[in-house]
Amino acid sequence: MNKQKRDVVIAGNWKMHKNVNETAALLSAMTTVVADADCKVVLCVPAINIPCAVESVIDSNIAIGAQNCHWEKSGAFTGEISVDMLNAFGVSYSIVGHSERRQYFGETDETVNKRTRACLANGIVPIVCVGENLEERETDVTKAVIKAQLIKALEGVSTNDLKRTIIAYEPVWAIGTGKTASSDQAQEVCCYIRTLLSENFCPVCAQSVAILYGGSMNAANAKELLSMADIDGGLIGGASLKPEDFGAIVAAAK
Ligand code: PEP
Repeated sequence: MNKQKRDVVIAGNWKMHKNVNETAALLSAMTTVVADADCKVVLCVPAINIPCAVESVIDSNIAIGAQNCHWEKSGAFTGEISVDMLNAFGVSYSIVGHSERRQYFGETDETVNKRTRACLANGIVPIVCVGENLEERETDVTKAVIKAQLIKALEGVSTNDLKRTIIAYEPVWAIGTGKTASSDQAQEVCCYIRTLLSENFCPVCAQSVAILYGGSMNAANAKELLSMADIDGGLIGGASLKPEDFGAIVAAAK
């Protein structure tokens, strides 16, 4: 399948930014700047702001996503949010395995897999993050790291579910640092991810999976990154808090 036939997705990750009042105001600005989007637009907001966010984007082309979710429906898991709770608000996407969750909150490839499968079993599209850190890139083990993360994250996922899954390649050294991967570096790994999907899961579905790049994507570099053959969109942190910049990235996805 050629790139033109795949979904293009621009997803924002607000991380731990914005209270409920700020959320409503920012989403009001966002609905205007992405009104003419030619791609899917998703904003992953802090869990506590989901009810307000869902209401704020009614009648717009923005979908609201979560930044994480637990695999059990309910139970003694203090501080966690279940996919059932997300479903109750009509949340349709969740980031899974972001490097900040792996780095600061003990997320492992096993728990990424459990969260991914829970999303898929409950109608939520997981945005599964994989990426190498600086030391891994410098010691030339990027592909080995990506392979291990990806294969474990998708263990037990059916081919039908794989088609609905979004993969985000996010080199850790590029997240929040202002150091973007070059378009060639990003394309090389996104292409490798598609090859892994094809060889280890399903050659046909691999062609339809949306693979995003994330790591300091901004209004200036989005066009070039998004023009690459295996990059089907972006996962955007910092720039997703600025309507003008986020609007420009969405426009670059045309
Ligand atoms: C992210 O948080 O996933 C991210 C890519 O952040 P930034 O765009 O700020 O690098």
